[in-house]
Parts: sequence; C-alpha cells; structure tokens
Amino acid sequence: MDFKFEGIDEDFRSEIKDFVEKELPWNWREQDLDPEDEKDSVLVRNFKRKLGDQGWLTMAWPKEYGGQAASHMRQVVFNEEMAYRGISAGDAGIRMVGPILMLYGTDEQKEQFLPKIASAEINWSQGYSEPDSGSDLASLQTRAVEDGDDFVVSGSKIWNSAHADSDWMFMLVRTEPDAPKHRGISFVLTELEGQEGVTIEKIPMMWDAYRGLVTFDNVRVPKKNLVGEQNRGWYVGAALLDFERSGVDRPARAKRVLEDLVEFCKENKKNGRLLADDPVIRNQLAELAVQVETTRLMCYNVAWMQSQDLIPNKEASITKVYGTETVNRLYGLGVKIMGLYGQLDPDSKWAPLKGRIENAWLRSFGGMVAAGTSEIQRNVIAQRGLELPRG
Ligand SMILES: Cc1cc2nc3c(=O)[nH]c(=O)nc-3n(C[C@H](O)[C@H](O)[C@H](O)COP(=O)(O)OP(=O)(O)OC[C@H]3O[C@@H](n4cnc5c(N)ncnc54)[C@H](O)[C@@H]3O)c2cc1C
Repeated sequence: MDFKFEGIDEDFRSEIKDFVEKELPWNWREQDLDPEDEKDSVLVRNFKRKLGDQGWLTMAWPKEYGGQAASHMRQVVFNEEMAYRGISAGDAGIRMVGPILMLYGTDEQKEQFLPKIASAEINWSQGYSEPDSGSDLASLQTRAVEDGDDFVVSGSKIWNSAHADSDWMFMLVRTEPDAPKHRGISFVLTELEGQEGVTIEKIPMMWDAYRGLVTFDNVRVPKKNLVGEQNRGWYVGAALLDFERSGVDRPARAKRVLEDLVEFCKENKKNGRLLADDPVIRNQLAELAVQVETTRLMCYNVAWMQSQDLIPNKEASITKVYGTETVNRLYGLGVKIMGLYGQLDPDSKWAPLKGRIENAWLRSFGGMVAAGTSEIQRNVIAQRGLELPRG
C-alpha cells in the first residue's frame, strides 16, 4: 500500500525546509521553543509573521479568511515539518479559535479575527481552567453578568499563557448560575491588552518556564464577543477541545529527539561499550520508534477526518493519550540512557544534547495533563469509543 498523499509532493517539503533553515534565527537542533512562555513567545510570534506572509499558517482555510484553500493534508505536512524543527506553527488561534469561529462565529467575528489569526497578528490564551475547576470543567465559577451591551466578568483563570505576549483570551464563563451546570456557560472572547480589571500572575513550571493566573475584576466584555448562543457555550468549548487534542506536532518533535538519541548512542560509550551495541537500549529505542510512527499515523487519521468536515472526538482523545504518553516514555528513556548527566538542565555546560531532552522530559508531564488529563481521555474513550457505561 502506498501511504503518500495526493497533491503533496516532496518539493513542498523541500520548500518549507529551505525557508525554515534560512529564516530561523536560532539553531533549531539546540532547543525546542515554548511559545506559551514569555522568554520565547515574541521570537515565535515574529517568526510566525513571516510564515503568515507566505500564507502557510492557515493554508487550508478558505481564501476569504486569509487561507489558500489548500488541502488539509498539505497543512498537516507543513505543521509536521515545522514541529520537527522545534516550532509549533499551529497555535491556539490557528488550531482552535479559527475553526470554532468558522463553525459558530458571526460574520462580523469572522471578519474581525480570522485574517488576523492567519497573519499571526493576534496571540490567544485559553481561559478554561480555574483554581477549583479542571477536569470537572463544567463546575467553573467565573461569572459574566449582563449589563447593557456588555458582560461584566469576574473570576480567575489558571495555567494559561496570558502572561506570554497574549492579546486575547477565549474563555468559558458562567452566565446563568441557576441553570444545570453545563447549561449556564457561555463562550466569549476577551481582549487582555490594556484591559482594566485584569491582573496576571506568573506560576513557575518545573521546566524553566511559567504559566499564568489571570484574575478578572469587573472586566467589561462586549456582547458582540459572545461566540454561539448564550448559555450554550459548553458545546462550543467542547468542540474546540476536539480541535485542541489532535495535532501532529508531538510525533514530529519526538521523531527529531529519537534521531538525536540514536546518534548519541552511536557516538557515546558506557563501561567501554558503545550504547548502540547494548541490546536493551537497541530494543527500547526500536519500540519507541514504532510508537512514534504509530502516533503520527493516528494524527494523520484525525487530520483526515477534519478534512472530511468530521469532528474527531474519541479519535482525538486516543491520539492525545497515546501521543503524550509516548513522548513521555521516549524523553524518559533519553534521560535514562544519558545516565546522571541526563538530569542536567540546559544551563549546564555538561548537559548532553544541550539539556534539551531533560527539558522536554519535564515538559512532557504537563502534556499529559493539559487539554484534559490522560485519565479523562480514557473516560472519553471508554464511554464514547467503547460505549461503556459512565463510571
Ligand atoms: C502545562 C499545562 C498547561 C495548561 N494550559 C492550560 C491553558 O492554556 N488553559 C487552560 O484553561 N488550562 C490549562 N491547563 C490546565 C489543564 O487543562 C488542567 O490542569 C487539567 O484539565 C486538570 O485539571 P486540574 O489541574 O484541576 O486537576 P484535577 O481535575 O483536580 O485532577 C487531579 C487528578 O484527578 C484525576 N481525575 C479527576 N477527575 C477524574 C475522573 N472523573 N476520572 C478519573 N480521574 C480523574 C485527574 O486525571 C488528575 O490526575 C494546563 C495545564 C498544564 C499542566
């Protein structure tokens, strides 16, 4: 069977490769950028503007929204090539807000936001989780009270990227406190830049980065920024998660790490023997190579569904749980193979591969939590995939 994609010739991959290698202002083999942290976000945004000028960020979108009406799979190949080089081109705007606005947005919202997402003019943060609401997201308490043409929003959103050069937040807010919990929620777009009543605190992560805690104190959000129907935002927010959980970036980044690890094993010895000659290490690397490739094919399946206008649901959860756990295993193996040096962080001159594997390993634990934990994904797969009763 031939798994090549129609209309995606190798010339396209080469074009991206040449562009990235010419334009990327850093040595992409040395670090993975974290666009949700302030130390990297400006660099990533500036680079993405160049990609936007090429029309690549949203090539699969319709032309009227700043796209090129290219095939969905072509977009996937682009995202894959970028992630392999350490940069996630599919940010929250491109991957989540854009598709959601196309499904649920008003004409005015589409006109206002989609072209700016396509040209990387807006950086979005995601305001779902709260200090007391994570997995049980529908228990969220951030209130939005109607006042004339506005909602007045008060509450807190946590673990987001609002501290990192973020202009707007898409958020779930409670508009009807007396309704059953899933039915009193709305989905709104809130401008953060220069907004009175918004306070942002930074929370340190274990991989030398931060995430944000944002407090809203009577912040005015125009009603025209409501997406979908009032009090029906839960369904808008849930559809967005299906877009969030797919994504070919993970196996693409993992493929690069795997290649680097294989090289490392060919060049380094332990107890006088090349690591590459150790049958246990060979076996573990081969096993992980299979899992990385499997993740990639699962992501292709999700992307194909999106290209058919199907919303991937259990498929997205399967891909998310398998993909995040695979990269955690791979990076964990990398740290182990490097022995005690593997634990050194990127600041140490003794860190093998510039500490990139250690950093990615620590970050990979967050991957199994963000966008719904592995346990929650397994619940989705059990109920919607296997049709088991609710536990
Ligand atoms: C790196 C990172 C980035 C993030 N980015 C964002 C962001 O940009 N925007 C945003 O809104 N949120 C973000 N989050 C938050 C993330 O979505 C939540 O952390 C996640 O949904 C879990 O919620 P919680 O932390 O409140 O844990 P809890 O919900 O308190 O869960 C604690 C533990 O209990 C388990 N558990 C809970 N309920 C069940 C159940 N029903 N069945 C089985 N097990 C269960 C969980 O799996 C977990 O192990 C991010 C988190 C991380 C780590």
